[in-house]
Amino acid sequence: MKCPNCDQHIEIEDWQDLEPFTCEECKESLCLIIDESTYQGATNTRLVICDDQ
Ligand SMILES: [Zn+2]
Repeated sequence: MKCPNCDQHIEIEDWQDLEPFTCEECKESLCLIIDESTYQGATNTRLVICDDQ
């Protein structure tokens, strides 16, 4: 998984934990998004920049 802000590799330790966390490289606040409605029928998990202030 890559940071969407700085492309730093991020190791996801707990895929069930959807709490926002901070990228160690750029200090951006990130969160995991799980999209279960992809047309492939597979669950699509991605990292996005969390805008919650
Ligand atoms: Zn980053």
